Amino acid sequence: MLSEHKVMIGLEVHAQLTSLKSKLFCSCSADYRNLPPNTSVCETCLGLPGSLPHLNGKAIEEVLKIALALHSKPSENTLFYRKHYFYPDMAKNFQISQYDRGGGVTIASGGWMQLSVGNLIKNVRVRRVQLEEDVAKIVYPSSLLQSEYVLVDYNRAGVALCEMVTEPDMTSPKEARLFIEKYATILQHLGVTDTSLEGSLRVDANISIDGGDRVELKNINSPKDVEKALNYEVQRQIMLVEKGSKIRMETRHWDEMNKITVAPRFKEEEEDYRYFPESDLPPLRINPDLVKKLEETLPELPDQRVERLGKQYQLTEYQASVLVSEKRLADSYEEAVKKGLNPSQAADWFINEVLGDLAEAKKDISELPKMVDSAVNVIMQVQVGAITGKIGKRLMKQLILNGSLPSETPKPITDEKTLYDLVREVISENPEVFDKARSDPKAVNYLVGQVMKKTRGTAEPKKIVEMINGELRKNN
Ligand code: ADP
Ligand code: ZN
Ligand code: MG
Repeated sequence: MLSEHKVMIGLEVHAQLTSLKSKLFCSCSADYRNLPPNTSVCETCLGLPGSLPHLNGKAIEEVLKIALALHSKPSENTLFYRKHYFYPDMAKNFQISQYDRGGGVTIASGGWMQLSVGNLIKNVRVRRVQLEEDVAKIVYPSSLLQSEYVLVDYNRAGVALCEMVTEPDMTSPKEARLFIEKYATILQHLGVTDTSLEGSLRVDANISIDGGDRVELKNINSPKDVEKALNYEVQRQIMLVEKGSKIRMETRHWDEMNKITVAPRFKEEEEDYRYFPESDLPPLRINPDLVKKLEETLPELPDQRVERLGKQYQLTEYQASVLVSEKRLADSYEEAVKKGLNPSQAADWFINEVLGDLAEAKKDISELPKMVDSAVNVIMQVQVGAITGKIGKRLMKQLILNGSLPSETPKPITDEKTLYDLVREVISENPEVFDKARSDPKAVNYLVGQVMKKTRGTAEPKKIVEMINGELRKNN
């Protein structure tokens, strides 16, 4: 049914700049998540009369980094606008944002991101990248439709938000999900947004079919929900069109609890935001030297990292791109390999076991880095044959679920003396191999393997190689 209809999807993605300590226009803490409601607020972010906004300069840098990573062109000058609407999530009845019409210039415009869809490479064009303030959080005591009242928490109001708008270049809900997932890992690699924080990445998805009017699905919290909401909306629109109705331009909300899109309870005001320049903030010149410096110091980005991992560790493109799809996964993997794991086998462990175990334990990837040492311990034991793969997988599952290995698991041998004794032991058990080891690296490897077995895979192979080489030099 889907393939007979032409689907067009364009996204507006809001990312909180969680790297910033304070809000965009005041010095209130931007780290609001674990605070009691309405405690990280001041006259500016509450919009009290007489208060003035002061721009947090670091926010400009962070948005520029995002723009550069998306090949978007920084403007020479930029300015802020007031975007008016009346809703309890904004105390001052306007949001300080940017605007790209009628003389408005956003921080950057144009650009593109490359997307792998199956075997195809697809370009999604970026329309603009801009900076705005976040609004308060509206808390629904039950579902969107059933709640009889709402609660408002202004802690989030004024937090710096980067809005990135694409052209309507995506042609399926799945492409939209892939786009957001890739954008998320770009933000992670830039270090601007910790996307694992609840609500740090929020999407408005616009969708039209067969050239009809577009419907905007507001405020969706995860890539998977964007795909679900769009799938729902495609089916809903197709049904209407096939019944002969016309799709009207409207805004709908994604009801996470009931998995449907719903029309707002109150007809939202016509989208006339009466934009006008924010006269409390002067136009801003973007220093070309700053742009140049940021360009030169941009960190390694996901596409480059996929390529490097492929080359450096002989990984398939599939392996490399799954690892890089989450920065913390790729970081943990690389840390594990540095500890001496076989790169290709380690990749399989991380992709096939660790990811699945995290999902099963309902744990976020941010829990992984502190478990890397123990994960290496398990994989190493399997790699040296101290335990079977089956037992290893069971141990890994326990590790991910409990955050630590069962107490009877052998602890890594880090004591040099213990390790040295084992090295001596293996040498005296294998005198001929030790003899060969002077000229044959394979023999060295064999000895290392024997020592590793005695440590049940818990030692660092590099250390053992050093010790064996030391013994070889002594006996020369
Ligand atoms: P604005 O809301 O600022 O006036 P547009 O309405 O042109 O800007 O676009 C807003 C978003 O809607 C963009 O992400 C764009 O890609 C998307 N969009 C525009 N036209 C369509 C369409 N026909 N179908 C789906 N999405 C669209
Ligand atoms: Zn404040
Ligand atoms: Mg916006």
